[in-house]
Parts: sequence; structure tokens; C-alpha cells
Amino acid sequence: MAPLTVLNDEEAMLQASVRRFAREQIAPRVRAMDESATLDPLVLKGLFELGLMSVEVPELYGGAGGTFFHSVLCVEEIAAVDPAVAVIVDVQNTLVINALLRYGVDQQQAAWLPKLNQSLVGAYALSESGSGSDAFALATTARPDGDSYILDGRKLWISSAHEAGLFLVFGTLNPAEGYRGITCFLVPRESDGLHIGKKEDKLGIRASSTAEVALNGVRVHRSAVLGQPGKGYKIAIETLNEGRIAIGGQLVGLARGAYQHALVYSKQRRQFGKPIAEFQGVQFQLAEMATKLEGARLMVYNAARLREAGKSFVTEAAMAKLYASTVAEEIASQAIEIFGGIGFTKDSPVEKYYRDVKIGRIYEGTSNMQRITIAKGILS
Ligand SMILES: Cc1cc2nc3c(=O)[nH]c(=O)nc-3n(C[C@H](O)[C@H](O)[C@H](O)COP(=O)(O)OP(=O)(O)OC[C@H]3O[C@@H](n4cnc5c(N)ncnc54)[C@H](O)[C@@H]3O)c2cc1C
Repeated sequence: MAPLTVLNDEEAMLQASVRRFAREQIAPRVRAMDESATLDPLVLKGLFELGLMSVEVPELYGGAGGTFFHSVLCVEEIAAVDPAVAVIVDVQNTLVINALLRYGVDQQQAAWLPKLNQSLVGAYALSESGSGSDAFALATTARPDGDSYILDGRKLWISSAHEAGLFLVFGTLNPAEGYRGITCFLVPRESDGLHIGKKEDKLGIRASSTAEVALNGVRVHRSAVLGQPGKGYKIAIETLNEGRIAIGGQLVGLARGAYQHALVYSKQRRQFGKPIAEFQGVQFQLAEMATKLEGARLMVYNAARLREAGKSFVTEAAMAKLYASTVAEEIASQAIEIFGGIGFTKDSPVEKYYRDVKIGRIYEGTSNMQRITIAKGILS
């Protein structure tokens, strides 16, 4: 099915090149990466070589100088083949680089953006064991000490932690101040006192590393503060508001991958003397899947376009993520049914989409947190 959504020539070219890369370079490695719960270094190298890890980095710093919409398209195309690989692309572009572009001073941008363009992976360390949805209840402290800060705390669930060379760490200058104490720090991996925990053994997106990041007296110079001290909450809110559009893109890509496999299989699998795609019951199932997919894609693209046009987009972004995560789960589930018994095994390509899809309703704001944002938006 050709997408009904109109892309301009530049966007269509980008989409085609990422689609080719995903099919040729990622697809043959998906199963091994899932089984070993490891991101193949060749895949990561390819992502950097194609500029997918620095989509919006200005040309001045060696990047592609692309748009936010481009980042969303890249995440979608990668996710159609492997939603786990899409995570590292998503976090790098829409959280880490986004925050640096928006809040980094010249010296910070010059120090980090060329590296993020070349081979450095970034991670976003906000969550803790006691602060997930209630992110600003975080307990990691940042104590001023001369021209430095000393960071102490434990960050949990940090995507790309095993590959990352740079961590955006959110800590508080004073827990009693609530969100007003929160500050964002640029913390290099090699910092003394920074320790990466073991990888979580996950249901899905297994090739994306998720781990604890412990900070035991990590000293960072005050020039490592991103934005203003005490204004880190704004960075978290703004980056996550935008990041969740790309998570919507990841789920649209995932749903498209599952749908397309089901469509192809339905034309090949024969029962009662004909391809199952000739049964109206199966046609109706495919029609529902295609319709939901198109709806989610339009919502995600619309939210991304609104953000790019500088219009208000927060409600639309939350709606897009909530809807995309809902229909992606339905589509991945339906794809397994269309495959029948083989769909329930690892010998089919759709089993993995069904495992990968669940995280869409949890990270970058659970579905309930999206509902809260949407309700605020429609009632204000
Ligand atoms: C694979 C993976 C990757 C992740 N990557 C990162 C990362 O890179 N960086 C990072 O900082 N974090 C990351 N996270 C953390 C993720 O963002 C949190 O898990 C998520 O925000 C939910 O927090 P929680 O797990 O503490 O759940 P909780 O906040 O404890 O929520 C539990 C349940 O309660 C519901 N709930 C909570 N509050 C309310 C409320 N007010 N009203 C209604 N319902 C409510 C939730 O919707 C949910 O269903 C990742 C998590 C996973 C699993």
C-alpha cells in the first residue's frame, strides 16, 4: 500500500534511502540481534555512516542539517524492520541532540555535536526507581563544590546505556525545591564514579540496551550544565513532548512492518484451495489494519508538522502516541492471527513485532500520562 500522506521530494528521498538501508543492512541481522540481545556494531556503524544518528545536526558540525520531521521519518523506517534499532536512533536525535540544539551554548555544541555525528551515542537519564511517571520526584542530587557539581544517584531504565559515550543526567540541586531544583548535566561515560549496570532482560526491543546508570560522586565542571541550573525540568518537558512524536513514528513503522508481512503471507498461504487473502474475512482484517495504520501515521505526521511550524502540538503529540501505541498493538496481534500457528513462533517475522510493541504504551510517558496531557489540552 502506498502511503496516502504527501511527502516533499527531499523527505521521499530520505525515506527511500533509509528504507533501503533497513532492508539490506538491518533485516538480515534482526533475529540474531534479538536472540543475543545485542545491537550489531555493523548496524550502528551503518546508522552513523548514513547520517541517521545526527539528522538535525547542522552542517557546521558535520551533520545533515535535516528537520525534526526527517528524524521522525528515519525512526519510522528503521522501526518497520527493527523497532529495537529504532530506539537508539530515536533517543540520539529527538532527545539528546534535540536538547543540545535547543539549550546548548556554542561551546557545548562545538564540543559534542561533531562527536555525536561521528560515532558517539547519547543517552537520556531521567527515570529512577522511585520516579517514573512522576519524573520530577527524582532523587539524584547535584551538590555544588567550587567550580563543579558532585552527582549522586541511580538512574534506571536508561536506553542505549551500553553503547553511550554521553549521558544527559537530570539531578536536583535541592530535593526540597521539587521540580525547581532540577538541572540537566552533560556527563561523559568515562567520568569517575559513573557505572553502567547489567542489561535488563526484556520482553521486546531486546537489541536496545536498557540499564541502570549509577552516579557515585561524579564530578562535573559547571560548564557541563545544559541550560540554566534549576531549569532542567523545562528541558525534560520539552524534549519528551517532542520525543513522543517520534515514538509514535516508531509505532507506525512497527505496525507497518507487521501489516506488510501479514499482507504478503495472506497472498501466499493457501487453505480451502485458494490464498487466504481471497476470503472476505481475511480481507476485512487487512482492511482494518490498513485503516488504523493510516490514521496513526496521519496523526504522527500532523503532530510533527505542527511542531516544525512552531504551532502548539503538545495535545496532538500525546494523542498521536496514545493512538499509535494502541493500534500498533492491535495490528501486531492481528498479524500473528493472519499467520496462524506459524505466527506464534520465532520462525515468523511477526512474533517479534508483538513483543516489541508493548513498550510503546510505557516509555516516554505511559498511556495514562498521555491521557492526562490530552485531558489538560482539551479542557484548558
Ligand atoms: C525499555 C525501557 C526503556 C526506557 N528508556 C528510558 C530512557 O532512556 N530514559 C529514561 O529516563 N527512562 C527510560 N525508561 C523509563 C520509562 O520512561 C518509565 O518506565 C515510564 O515513564 C513509566 O514509569 P514507571 O516504570 O516508574 O511506571 P509508574 O510511573 O510506576 O507507572 C505504573 C502504572 O501507574 C500508572 N500511573 C502512574 N501515575 C498515574 C497517574 N497520575 N494517573 C493514572 N495512572 C498513573 C501508569 O500509567 C502505569 O500504568 C525506559 C523504560 C523501559 C521499560
